[in-house]
Amino acid sequence: MKTKAAFLEKPGKIEEKPLKIKELELPELRENEVLIKVNACGVCRTDLHVVEGELGDVNNIVPGHEVVGIIERLGKEVKDKKIGSKVGVAWLYSSCGSCEYCLSGRENLCQNKRFTGFSKNGGYSEYIIADSRFIFNLPAGLKDEEIAPLLCSGAIGYRSFKLLHASPGSTIAMFGFGGSAHLTLQLAKKFGHKVIIVSRNENHLKLASELGADFTFSPKNGNVYENLRDKDIEDAIIFAPSAIPIMNALQIIKPGGKVVVAGIHIDGEIKIDYDSQLFHEKTLLSVESYTREDMLEYLRLATNLDIKPLYTDIKLEDANSALAELKNSEVMGVKVIKF
Ligand SMILES: [Zn+2]
Ligand SMILES: [Zn+2]
Repeated sequence: MKTKAAFLEKPGKIEEKPLKIKELELPELRENEVLIKVNACGVCRTDLHVVEGELGDVNNIVPGHEVVGIIERLGKEVKDKKIGSKVGVAWLYSSCGSCEYCLSGRENLCQNKRFTGFSKNGGYSEYIIADSRFIFNLPAGLKDEEIAPLLCSGAIGYRSFKLLHASPGSTIAMFGFGGSAHLTLQLAKKFGHKVIIVSRNENHLKLASELGADFTFSPKNGNVYENLRDKDIEDAIIFAPSAIPIMNALQIIKPGGKVVVAGIHIDGEIKIDYDSQLFHEKTLLSVESYTREDMLEYLRLATNLDIKPLYTDIKLEDANSALAELKNSEVMGVKVIKF
């Protein structure tokens, strides 16, 4: 059986359009795998990092890890999934199940895990094979294009938010306003926080205000510390893939505050001045992926709290240009490939 996919033979700059549309032969299903007909796949910044080779040299791969589709075939050992069910496939393709991390509820840190659209072919494809133990039954009442971005952009934002352990009603600053931030802003507002959005993109700041941001600021208009120091910011989440906002955020948060970095890759070097950026019990930490428990919690929350992405649907053939727009911060909300 064949599938039409956007295929990456070897990484390259997105401006050179490294993804090529190709017919690929699907391998035989292994005992725990399922075959899924893809309805929608979100376009995530991690896909851009994969395509441009920033996560290491990866060859002959189909990107895409925010996948919504219908199960068409089951491997021999799959007992808890049904043909015809709608499911989600996300970044964590599988983990080993037996290491110290897997055995302590931290499968996101498993050193033998595999990733959808990185170590296994992903959802920029009409069909995808997934490990049945790592796919998710999806909430009813949401469109496929609305669910897809929740599976990574949303879930990473949720894990970042969760790791803040923010005080009720506190002020959270978010740096960068792409797919993940626009969902996490909605989440934090529903939890009763004040949210400040920092971005260099005026259109992104306008969208942030429309989605409920209490205050927005562009570093083009002045020094971040001087302008935000009196805003009572307890914690911050960094969505922009850069070292500068991390250093800014450490400086503006209150004593005891946390800075969580949501990105899988950042540009530049973090240089920390101990006195002004880390002393007074400030914490800097990163987020890696999600656990299946996080995802189930988040999908339930997103449904109950009516958290929805602002999306534009595109064709598979538009994958290169969508990633180029993401690189240039031209996307409002998220782009989703619709099949
Ligand atoms: Zn493991
Ligand atoms: Zn992602």
